[in-house]
Amino acid sequence: MPVLTPSALGEPCVLLKLGEIVLKGKNREIFERRLQNNIRTALKSLDIKVEIRQRHGVIAILLPEATGAAAADAVAARVADVMGVVWIHRAWRVAKDVEAVTAAALELVAGRPEVERQATFAVRSRRRDKRFPLRSNELDRVVGGAINDKYGLPVRLKDPELTVHIEVDRDEVFVFSDAVPGQGGLPVGMSGRGLVLMSGGIDSPVAAYRMLRRGLQVDFLHFSGIPFTTSESIYKAYALVRELGRFQAKARLLVVPFGKAQQSLRSSGADRLQVVAQRRLMLKTAEEVAHRLRRQVLVTGDSLGQVSSQTLQNITALDDAVAMPILRPLIAMDKTEIMAEARRIGTLRISELPDEDCCSLLAPRKAETRARIDDLRQIERRLDAEELAVRLADSVQEYRLDA
Ligand code: ATP
Ligand code: MG
Repeated sequence: MPVLTPSALGEPCVLLKLGEIVLKGKNREIFERRLQNNIRTALKSLDIKVEIRQRHGVIAILLPEATGAAAADAVAARVADVMGVVWIHRAWRVAKDVEAVTAAALELVAGRPEVERQATFAVRSRRRDKRFPLRSNELDRVVGGAINDKYGLPVRLKDPELTVHIEVDRDEVFVFSDAVPGQGGLPVGMSGRGLVLMSGGIDSPVAAYRMLRRGLQVDFLHFSGIPFTTSESIYKAYALVRELGRFQAKARLLVVPFGKAQQSLRSSGADRLQVVAQRRLMLKTAEEVAHRLRRQVLVTGDSLGQVSSQTLQNITALDDAVAMPILRPLIAMDKTEIMAEARRIGTLRISELPDEDCCSLLAPRKAETRARIDDLRQIERRLDAEELAVRLADSVQEYRLDA
């Protein structure tokens, strides 16, 4: 196999370390196939022909010989958003002999700022193929000695500033020094399909991200105050779904014009229960839409006690509105934690844009924090909420987003 190129570094490739997936016993094959498919989809638009191989909980993405380091960087950046990957290494693939490995390690260290600083270093080898003539500690010593001879860097086994990793595989050896954390979690699509109730706010996109990371594939449902509000909240929901498209290939955004239904709730005397009654109607509509799309669960961004509609009693009253399970991944998170995560995944700057949220429309001056289910049901009987939810589900407008 032609694995040694003139640069001694070998061929660029990207190594992925998987976490939980490797623990899944019998289902492991399904997980791995799903992950590989998701990786292929994520790389499609790069238009680089890659070969994906997997052994022992490590995926190697091999690039064609002619492609350079920049292509490998682009691949590494894409897979950083694929759920189920724990670590990403930009690696070099060299022939299975000690000289080739040593030459590649020397070349790898050559361009590094640590040489100038005379930083401490260590070599860590791993022998997945036990037929390799040197044991891992012997390989450490040989390669470490060569680096020390050539550049004078001091070896330090505990907490080195630079680590050169060597992984001996069946057909080749991988040499690398950098490790970029991936998203972790499970491959999207492995845990079923859900429908996220997506406002234009900070919480619901984070809730969606959390469920995507546990392998749930999701679509999005947004309620707009139209015709009493502008379309801004729809644009925000669209931008948020697009941003989350980094983590899942395809998504649908469905929008319900909700203003008139909110008005009917008010006319039927919801008063202090207006907000909880609206949320129940949203959930009923979402359940109907979810049935039509064959989605198994609803997802919301509720966090216990964050706003008056999210007291324990009100959340209980929300659960009572539908039979479908409601997942609330943010239930135990603080607002500051949610905001930090929103910033990290790139949704915060969109969520913070101004809009007219449909929930503040027609909101009472004083909202009920201890809604009684009987009172809510009575309001709903007056306007036939079940029938209204079906009509609202009929009125959805769909926006398709293809990554
Ligand atoms: P967010 O930041 O996600 O808007 P929030 O703190 O503003 O949440 P609420 O307005 O009470 O809290 O909404 C709680 C949850 O209800 C949201 O996370 C979302 O899942 C759902 N929800 C609220 N408003 C809408 C809407 N207009 N369209 C779709 N879902 C909504
Ligand atoms: Mg909101």
